[in-house]
Amino acid sequence: MSIQRTLSIIKPDGVAKNLVGEILGRFEKNGLRIAGTRMQWLSQQEAEGFYAVHSERPFFGELVEYMTSGPVVISVLEGEDAISRNRELMGATNPAEAAPGTIRADFADSIGVNTVHGSDAEETAAVEVAYFFRSTELCARG
Ligand code: GDP
Repeated sequence: MSIQRTLSIIKPDGVAKNLVGEILGRFEKNGLRIAGTRMQWLSQQEAEGFYAVHSERPFFGELVEYMTSGPVVISVLEGEDAISRNRELMGATNPAEAAPGTIRADFADSIGVNTVHGSDAEETAAVEVAYFFRSTELCARG
């Protein structure tokens, strides 16, 4: 067990469905602390850069279009095993396969429009946190 930081994004459908408080509340109730957060409407360039690892996938254009379709809420979550804890709360990528009670099972529309993003490993978490936040914008909560 170790204190980690991870990047969370409440995607455009989550913001549009007015789920910001609900989703941040689930994080806080489950041992994760918010070290920094802001609402932002991503540009095409920001979304393409963030998802660059998926640029060769057939759904890349659709993914970027969706992620730029409205504002998102980007947060850094901190806590014991924050990366896997957040992924557990999110549920599987495809809501049809997500465990009951997870964010995606409860709120996602489809494998593409799936309400939340969460870093999947320590290396990606570090890169993703730095993509959106300067260290001075984050407050250690551990
Ligand atoms: P995640 O880590 O659970 O978010 O899943 P991935 O890293 O595999 O994919 C990143 C994001 O791309 C997902 O959260 C979806 O928004 C999108 N995505 C993944 N697979 C598909 C797909 O088959 N179709 C579409 N339209 N979008 C997808």
